[in-house]
Amino acid sequence: MADHTNGELPEQLPAIDDVLQDPALKRMARLMPHNVLAQEALTAIAEVRGAIAEGQHLDISREAIARKAAARASRLLMPSLKRAINASGVIVHTNLGRSVLAPTAQEAVNSVICGYSTLEYSIKNMRRGSRHAHCEELICALTGAEAAIAVNNNAAAVMMVLTEFATEREAVVSREALVEIGGSFRVPDVMAQSHAIMVEVGATNMTHPEDYERAITDRTAMMLKVHASNYRIIGETETVPLSEMRTIADRANAQRPANDPVLVYEDQGSGAFIRLDAFGDYAEPAVVESLRQGADLVSFSGDKLLGGPQAGIIAGKKELIDRLKANSLARVLRLDKMTLAALEATIRLYLNPEEALDQIPTLRMLSQTAAEVEARAEHMLELIAEHITEDDAFVQVVPEVARAGGGALPMCDIETYAVEVSFIRGDAQSCEKYLVQDRPVPIIGCIRRDALLLDARTVVDEREMHIIAQALGAYFKKLPRA
Ligand SMILES: *Cc1c(COP(=O)(O)O)cnc(C)c1O
Repeated sequence: MADHTNGELPEQLPAIDDVLQDPALKRMARLMPHNVLAQEALTAIAEVRGAIAEGQHLDISREAIARKAAARASRLLMPSLKRAINASGVIVHTNLGRSVLAPTAQEAVNSVICGYSTLEYSIKNMRRGSRHAHCEELICALTGAEAAIAVNNNAAAVMMVLTEFATEREAVVSREALVEIGGSFRVPDVMAQSHAIMVEVGATNMTHPEDYERAITDRTAMMLKVHASNYRIIGETETVPLSEMRTIADRANAQRPANDPVLVYEDQGSGAFIRLDAFGDYAEPAVVESLRQGADLVSFSGDKLLGGPQAGIIAGKKELIDRLKANSLARVLRLDKMTLAALEATIRLYLNPEEALDQIPTLRMLSQTAAEVEARAEHMLELIAEHITEDDAFVQVVPEVARAGGGALPMCDIETYAVEVSFIRGDAQSCEKYLVQDRPVPIIGCIRRDALLLDARTVVDEREMHIIAQALGAYFKKLPRA
């Protein structure tokens, strides 16, 4: 087999039919149709051609290209979205799927996907019903809202509210809110998408009631408050509380037609149903508090502090929610039965707050005491020690700082404990790569000072601890002995 290089002409690459005749690809013909294999072979040839054009030295034999094509084709047989273990210490980790569902939420999903369901069927009336009905009563009972609707995610919820109430009209927003949240959510961009006219008031660190008062005109549709989810401005700051925004809106509305009031809308983002007292002054406001302070509408995510599936929930005045339900975006952004089942079951757990704290993994991870996490880390250490030897690595439990993540509680350093693996054989980088890329269940930890840290707070259960211990053992086993 010749090592063809830079100097070769691309014409010397094997033809597609030749590549397909290679045993490596022929073996795969049982597993997928010819056209799929042909497509992978074409892509492999094109990749090699591109690499050669860039001056790389490559093996361009039929066997080599067929091997590449076969590797691509076999990847199609492997799941891409799969379970992972979060040992990073970031609780609501957006890259890792944010919230783990409570057992009853998992069961609820399983139950509605294994057969037909009452997704849009009313048992009471024995005919067509509404998918919005499943969660609404629970949300209202728990938050004191008159009505509620759940859509695909909170970004969608914000867009829907702005589109329904502020298209071609003005939405007054403090400059403190003009930040990016959760990777790609930017208030000015969502405003532009929904054709709302953004009226900025105040300064980044200071907004006064007069700023809002002066900004209200006949064209004002709403005052929008965006919860400072993922950041805090520290030092001298002033923001206008919702209750004050309510007063300003009421004063303006006294002069306006009853059917066209200035609305007070809060995009709360993180969406806590119960105040986590463990976080003291930093605790995120609960949805019920925003409504009590006079917000007409509040929106929040289903998979942040609520601890449920990806969703965006809007709660508030019935006549406003009715308008949202009638908006065609309610159809475009509607939830599917799996999400609705998980959301309903998650919210139901809040009827018993103690049960919610215990059963909803996000809440449990957030509220677990440092001592409890330390005990879990010690247990994980013992399991790991059973799989590795003293010549492999030095392992110990170390204090660390966990994060809520998901744009919540940005100021909270959550005291946590991690297992620290200091390498005698191998090294942290290659071990991290092995744990992520070469294991059936990828394990995501983090590297600090050449050691691998595995935070016990976000490791879901005992089973995951065993998987971590076995994977570490397997890493050291495959290293060549010195
Ligand atoms: C997270 C967040 C969003 C986006 O919510 P998604 O559910 O990720 O779409 C919007 N606004 C605020 C304030 C947030 O914290």
